[in-house]
Amino acid sequence: MSVLPLCVLPHPVLRQQAQPVDSFTRGLRRMAMDLLDTMYANDGVGLAAPQVGWSLQLFVANPSQQAGRELIVANPVLEPAGGRARIVEGCLSVPKAWHRVRRSARVRLRGQDLSGHPLVLEAEGLLAIVLQHEVDHLGGRLFIDRLSWWQRRRLLWRAARNA
Ligand code: ZN
Repeated sequence: MSVLPLCVLPHPVLRQQAQPVDSFTRGLRRMAMDLLDTMYANDGVGLAAPQVGWSLQLFVANPSQQAGRELIVANPVLEPAGGRARIVEGCLSVPKAWHRVRRSARVRLRGQDLSGHPLVLEAEGLLAIVLQHEVDHLGGRLFIDRLSWWQRRRLLWRAARNA
């Protein structure tokens, strides 16, 4: 298992639609473990495969940061399940930038686990936000895309100044 280098803005892989996972092999399991190692090494609560340069529909998350509560999902599909939330987000691929983002307060996630078995999850609170953030990554979207043009410009300017 290893900690991998992160891809940061403006790396093109972050803007690609990730490819579906179609084989649930030991290699996929190893990739998921590397994603977890990399997430923990960077104090993240979620990490999507494109963030380490793999254009693949796979992400890991653990908003509790407690061992054993990791979530690993391939080929996720999200549906909003009601409510509105607006919390401050950051992203390991957009260093030194944090901003409030509008999202659904509750979501329903469908996907597959590492064996290819169907996985269905209802989430609220921080987990619901993390799921939306990570699924965005798999569609080539970043949290800054959900801000207004002006908010994004000001945020990136500040981040560059603090780099
Ligand atoms: Zn992110």
